Amino acid sequence: LSGQMMTLPLSITSVMRFAEKAHKDTEIVSVTPDNPRHRYTYADAFRRVRQLANALKGSGVGSGDRVATLAWNDHRHLELYYGIPSYGAVCHTINPRLFPEQVEYIVNHAENKLLFTDPAFLPLLETLQGKLPSLKQIVVLTDSLHMPETSLSGVVDYESYIGNQPDAFDWPELDENAASGLCYTSGTTGNPKGVLYSHRSTLLHAYATITPDVMCLSSHDAVLPIVPMFHVNAWSIPYAAPIVGSKLVLPGSQMGDSETLQQLIDSEGVTISAGVPTIWLALLEYLRTTGKTLESLNRVVVGGAACPLSIIGEFEQRHNIKTLQGWGMTETSPLGVFNTLKSGMAKLPKEELDEIKVKQGRPIFGVDIRIIDETGAEQPWDGESTGEVQVKGNWVCNSYFRQETGAPLNDDGFFPTGDVASIDPQGFMRITDRIKDVIKSGGEWISSIDLENAAIGHPAVAEAAVIGVPHAKWTERPLLIVKKVDGVNAGKEEILSFLEGKVAKWWIPDDVQFIDEIPHTATGKISKKDLREIFSDYSAG
Ligand code: ADP
Repeated sequence: LSGQMMTLPLSITSVMRFAEKAHKDTEIVSVTPDNPRHRYTYADAFRRVRQLANALKGSGVGSGDRVATLAWNDHRHLELYYGIPSYGAVCHTINPRLFPEQVEYIVNHAENKLLFTDPAFLPLLETLQGKLPSLKQIVVLTDSLHMPETSLSGVVDYESYIGNQPDAFDWPELDENAASGLCYTSGTTGNPKGVLYSHRSTLLHAYATITPDVMCLSSHDAVLPIVPMFHVNAWSIPYAAPIVGSKLVLPGSQMGDSETLQQLIDSEGVTISAGVPTIWLALLEYLRTTGKTLESLNRVVVGGAACPLSIIGEFEQRHNIKTLQGWGMTETSPLGVFNTLKSGMAKLPKEELDEIKVKQGRPIFGVDIRIIDETGAEQPWDGESTGEVQVKGNWVCNSYFRQETGAPLNDDGFFPTGDVASIDPQGFMRITDRIKDVIKSGGEWISSIDLENAAIGHPAVAEAAVIGVPHAKWTERPLLIVKKVDGVNAGKEEILSFLEGKVAKWWIPDDVQFIDEIPHTATGKISKKDLREIFSDYSAG
C-alpha cells in the first residue's frame, strides 16, 4: 500500500525557490576581487541566478555536463552553486591549490567545456594552455573594469556574461537523484577521485547540517564559511543557510588573513563560522597579539583534522565561544559525526568534559556508523576497542565518477573510510589515526593525533606533527616534528617533558625535530606524506 502524499523532488532548485520568497531580504556579504565588501540579498542573488541559467543555455551547456569553478567563497560562486545544478548541469568545484598537473587531470577527466575562474587563477590556467582540449570557454569572476590581461582565448568577464540575459528562466523538473555537484578528493596516492553528489544527497545533508545538535542554524545567524567552497561544498553551508535564512558572509580570497576575518566577524555580526584547525590557530594568535575580540561570534565549527584542546580552551575561556568539532570526508558530503554535548554533560568535572570535547563527535541521524577491526569483526562501543570507521547513508558515495573498477563499498554496502577510531558508550567517536598514518611500536598502536594534540598545548609550539620512523627494536617509533611560535624558544627536552602525564609514557617520542614550515596539503591539512619524504633518511635507532 502506497502512502498518498505528494512527492516533490528534493532539489537544490527548491531551496532557491523557497529562499527567494521566504528570505528575500536576508543579506549576502562578500569579499570579491573587485569589491572588498559586496552586499546584496537572496532575492538579488536568485534573480541573477536566472540570468546565469540563460547564459549557460547560450553557451550550449547540456543536461549532466560538468561546469567547472576555480574560485574562492563569494557571491558569484554562490550563484554558480545554484545556477549550474538547477539548470540540470553539474557544479564541479576544483581546488586551485592543487598542483597544475592535478588540475589538468581533473578538468580532462570531467571533460569540462566551460570553466568559471577567479582572476587570480588565470596564470594557473595559462600554464595549462593546450592541455585542456575539452575546454571551450572561460568566464572570469569579475566585471569588465577589473578584467586582467590574459593570453588565453575565449575569455569573458562574468558580469558581461550574465549582464544582458533575461532574468526569467523556466527551471527544468529534475529527478532528485540527478547529479548536482562534483568534487575530487585530493588523492594522497594515485589520481584524484571524483565524488558526484546528487540533488537529493545535497538537500538531505543540508537539512542535517541545520539541526540543533549539528550547526543549529537559523534566521538569527550570520554564517562565515572559512572552509573553501571548492572543498566539499564548504561543508554544505551555502546550501543550508538559505533554507533557514541565515545571513551569509563570504570571505573571498581572504581566508588566511586573520585581520580581515576579525573585521568581517565584528562588522557583519557573524554568529557562527567554520574552518580547519590551521585557520583557528592563526586567528587565535592574531587575537592574542592585538588584544582584539569577537563579540558576536558564539560558536565555531572545526573539522577536516583533529581539533586540539588548546583551541577549544582558548575560544571558550578568552572569547566565550563554543567549539563544535565535526568529522567527515569528501565521500561523506562531509557530515559523518558531530560533537555537541548530550544532556547533563556540561556539569561533568572539567577533565572528563575535556576528554569528550576533543572527540570527533557522535552519530547523527542519516549516517549509520561502525568500527571494524583487522579481522573484520565489528567492535563494541566501549571507548577502548578500535577499528576502521565504516559508514552508510544517503549522503555517502557509492562509487567514484567514471571509475568503473575498484568500487569502494564493502559487500554489505558500507563505505570504508580509512580512519581508525574508537566509539564510547555514549556514541562519541574518537579518531586515533588514518590507517596510512598509524604508528605501530612494539606491536602496539600509538595515536599520532593524540600526541599532536598534546604537543600543540605547549606555548612554544605553533604546529606539531607526528610520523612513524623505523626503529631496530620497536619496528617504529613516533617522531615529533614542530614548528615553533616566532620569537618563543623551547628545547627538545622541555617539549618532551611537557608531554609527560598527557599521553602514555611509552608513547612519548624519543626526539623532536624543529622545522621552519610544516608542509600542508591542498586542503590545508598537515601533509604527512611530505613529512615522511623529508624525514625518509631518519632512523630512530
Ligand atoms: P583528503 O583525503 O584530501 O584529506 P578530505 O578533506 O575528504 O580529503 O579529508 C577527510 C579526512 O580528514 C578524514 O578521513 C579524516 O582522516 C580527516 N578528518 C576530517 N575531520 C577530522 C576530525 N575532526 N578529526 C580528525 N580527522 C579528521
